[in-house]
Amino acid sequence: MTVLGTASPARNLVCRACGATYPLAAQHACFECFGPLEVAYDIEALKQVTREQIEAGPNNIWRYAGLLPAGQDEAARVTLNPGLTPLVRADLLAAELGITGGLWIKDDSANPTHSFKDRVVSVALSAAKALGFQRYACASTGNLANSVAAHAARAGVPSVVFVPHDLEPGKIVTTAVYGGDLVAIEGSYDDVNRLCSELVETDEFEDTAFVNVNVRPFYAEGSKTLGYEVAEQLGWRIPAQVVIPMASGELLTKIDKAFEELVEIGLVEAPAEGWTVFGAQSAGCNPIALALHNDTDEIQPQKPTGIAKSLNIGDPAAGPYALESVRRTGGWMEYADDEEIRAGIQLLARTTGVFAETAGGVTTACLVKLVKTGRLDPAKETVVFNTGEGLKTIDAVAEQVGPTYRVKPSLKAAKEAGLL
Ligand SMILES: *Cc1c(COP(=O)(O)O)cnc(C)c1O
Ligand SMILES: [Zn+2]
Repeated sequence: MTVLGTASPARNLVCRACGATYPLAAQHACFECFGPLEVAYDIEALKQVTREQIEAGPNNIWRYAGLLPAGQDEAARVTLNPGLTPLVRADLLAAELGITGGLWIKDDSANPTHSFKDRVVSVALSAAKALGFQRYACASTGNLANSVAAHAARAGVPSVVFVPHDLEPGKIVTTAVYGGDLVAIEGSYDDVNRLCSELVETDEFEDTAFVNVNVRPFYAEGSKTLGYEVAEQLGWRIPAQVVIPMASGELLTKIDKAFEELVEIGLVEAPAEGWTVFGAQSAGCNPIALALHNDTDEIQPQKPTGIAKSLNIGDPAAGPYALESVRRTGGWMEYADDEEIRAGIQLLARTTGVFAETAGGVTTACLVKLVKTGRLDPAKETVVFNTGEGLKTIDAVAEQVGPTYRVKPSLKAAKEAGLL
């Protein structure tokens, strides 16, 4: 298939493991060593991008088009225009946890399909369109399926999304409503992913872009916009500490990479003490965090369990790179069990007005642990990433919360119930 257009600052794909380079095409693994490929840029082209240009751009991820591999031409985008989501000051949560350096929630539940996945899908499918694909697909733990189905619907392109059969009802409905094909696989996400890797090699799927399989290098770049936005929203500053949920580990590595790039191309001054990256997983699926705790590079694949289904990737593709980011920046990883996740959702909601899905409960619960164990410095500015919407996983807390009072509609009854 053809390579991307000349307006893109991307120049080639490069193997993260051995450094071999390839043209900008639909390829995700190195022919030499099977390592994952990522997009490499013309650094001089990136250095042309100014703060003023970005600030004058649209109120969505495309303000960073000059830093992305695809979507420079507005008419050629496949997008719901996600991004520029709220960076919420969380003073009450900070007070409760004893954080004095400033605490923010980057609330990506505000995206069009209510998770950060709209960012990666917009970039991946804009690349896929430029590369000539006719159908859009993905292997998903839920949110990605929502986003691919919605993007395909907006573009008028057929879609087929693959999910584990036991997803939350709130993620099946919010995908199926867009009308594309939804395939429930009787297996785990890792089974779904393996099947999609096989399908993509067949003649029947030759015209199909799987956002996180054959066009994965472009998909991954979309995550960087979360890092760019946080820096811009803080007044072109990189926060001292970030806490990020991990499924494949890609999001974490790309936020770190976004910060590195902003410094490298001169859009942000390098913070004197650098920044520190923290990762969050659930106890039911913690292969990356466990490798860190066991001080090993070997990530042992797991069979995921527990309520944080959007993070349930037992064999995380970017795990080694997430470990590298966290070790290099002096951070740490934690994991939270289902009870802690439920408490995390409620704590975040009660103190910030942000209702997160289970992944946000994981991240909040891990923030609490990182503060308690002294791994996270409460005197330093911290940004916590909420990547998904609570209404999609409402069952997680349905039994924990409900009406405070049940009262007949009279003053007498209200008094008897203790309201007066
Ligand atoms: C997919 C997802 C993540 C993590 O994504 P990775 O890049 O695979 O680590 C985090 N939160 C939510 C809600 C997600 O859907
Ligand atoms: Zn290689």
